[in-house]
Amino acid sequence: MSNFKKKFSVFAALALIFSFVVGMVPAQAQEMEAEIQPRAALCPDCNEGTMVKKDDVVILDWYTYGQQFCVHGYPYGVDLLQRRVCASVYECTFCGSQSRNEYTNTRVVCEGHR
Ligand SMILES: [Zn+2]
Ligand SMILES: [Zn+2]
Repeated sequence: MSNFKKKFSVFAALALIFSFVVGMVPAQAQEMEAEIQPRAALCPDCNEGTMVKKDDVVILDWYTYGQQFCVHGYPYGVDLLQRRVCASVYECTFCGSQSRNEYTNTRVVCEGHR
């Protein structure tokens, strides 16, 4: 009986250590992620300032890349599928270095008619 108790207490201690170690790993991982996030906004040129959004610019104006049957209830005509390319301009608060983050807008232009 005492032998069983001894084994059991060793097992319990091991289980406790194991759960402690397992419990620690995600906490550490989360901390590291939280640390990396602000660094991503740091200026890559000077490593001093942070990159803040300054402007939005149009790089490529609206153009038609496709069409579909009108979905607005008109029996004739089509809807033009258009997109344009824009960019957010980020500027360093310290050295003034700029970087762009491009993104695409899409819209549907109805040319349907009766
Ligand atoms: Zn900078
Ligand atoms: Zn339409």
